[in-house]
Amino acid sequence: MATNPQLSYHELGFRCGVEIHQQLEGQKLFCRCPTTIRKDPPDISVQRKLRAAAGEGGAVDIAAQYEQTRGKQFIYHGYRDTTCLVELDEEPPGPINEKALHAALQVASLLHCTIVDEIQVMRKTVIDGSNTSGFQRTALVGRDGELLMDGKKVSIPTVCLEEEACQVIERGAGRDAYNLSRLGIPLIEIATGPDLHTPEECRKACLQLGMILRSVDGLKRGIGSIRQDVNVSIKGGARTEIKGFQDVQSIHAIIDYEISRQLAILKKNKPIAAEVRKAEPDGTTSFLRPMPGAARMYPETDVLPVQGSLQNIAGIELLDDKAKKLEGIGIAKDLADAAAKAGKADAILLWAKQFPTIKPAFIAESVVSIPITIRRKENITANPSNEEYAAIFSELSSGHIVKEAVHDIIISLGKTGRLDFARFKLLSDDDVEREVAALASENAKVPQNAMIGLAMNKLRGRADPAKVIAAVKRMMA
Ligand SMILES: [Zn+2]
Repeated sequence: MATNPQLSYHELGFRCGVEIHQQLEGQKLFCRCPTTIRKDPPDISVQRKLRAAAGEGGAVDIAAQYEQTRGKQFIYHGYRDTTCLVELDEEPPGPINEKALHAALQVASLLHCTIVDEIQVMRKTVIDGSNTSGFQRTALVGRDGELLMDGKKVSIPTVCLEEEACQVIERGAGRDAYNLSRLGIPLIEIATGPDLHTPEECRKACLQLGMILRSVDGLKRGIGSIRQDVNVSIKGGARTEIKGFQDVQSIHAIIDYEISRQLAILKKNKPIAAEVRKAEPDGTTSFLRPMPGAARMYPETDVLPVQGSLQNIAGIELLDDKAKKLEGIGIAKDLADAAAKAGKADAILLWAKQFPTIKPAFIAESVVSIPITIRRKENITANPSNEEYAAIFSELSSGHIVKEAVHDIIISLGKTGRLDFARFKLLSDDDVEREVAALASENAKVPQNAMIGLAMNKLRGRADPAKVIAAVKRMMA
């Protein structure tokens, strides 16, 4: 690119939009199967051939035709306890998964979309074999939203709830094999308008949309759970869709590659085809298939439309806003961000209110930092539940334990699986005196500071440190 990239993207008439797909955890969209993606040997395998059906307008979609010309056979691998007849398209879909619908509605409302009056599931023709039915079910949830990014508004034409496709496990000559376990996992799809004018804006939009998605409950985590597709075009070129980014950081380089590829074609005075391309790990793109046309969608009559009170989505808030609330009660920014990301913001805000004698920063540290420290230093995994934390803070607030004991209580929970307050019970003032006296008689020649160290070590987590120090000083005065 030229020395002034801003200017050159502008001169090129560069525009881009993104589509984000995020998988949800729990149950599938139209059956009760779990959302577990499996790679182990299957229990069943079936063989299929798929044909393109005419869309409502009577035209067979160009992308669908392209795939059909390949005349492939498809093998589907399934599992007795993870896939059912719905994935095999032997049984009609069940009603839409309400939890997934709720999450999609929340995302749409966070993006200031107009929520639809009725959820109508549509069929989108796909005959590359990645759907046993030959179509993907998709439902529009919200439209005409916007994403606010550094003061700029990026339009969000649609937020949809879709079913995930099968995972390809083998491509052979005339024969592809797919794993059914991924098919039907709920996917939230967010599409932006072509309002992004630099690759950097595109990267930022992806990060911002990721933050918005993480603000709702029930997202699937890990590699492959979120995917970005990027639509790019330059003046005189054609819209190209790039799929399969390994991560958000590679977006800039891959877009630059795609621009130079299109420029090279334009220089030779050749037309650029509208097509779908794949982002390669080496930063280039490769042809995947022609751009699908508009004849792909028709109504899914096996699923009843969902109506009523869809607009009524309460209690949803951006992670960034949650983090700001935590900062507002005295929690440092980094800790507040980490707490919001970990999905603990609401709980921390609640505990801060329930236990006003405990500093909110200590509550956040106990919930966010202590389990991490314990894992790193002691190699012990401890993830106390909200109930367990509430019990710890209640003991602390009523003075039965000291703040210093919380770390050790969580370690012991990680080791034994249960909360044990008895071992960490706060000693009475008399007990502190007695313990310090016993220690002093065992270590007669130790100077005062070392004595304080010994006493603190012995009584750590069972006495107020100030009281221990005072007792030692009295003893040695
Ligand atoms: Zn199923």
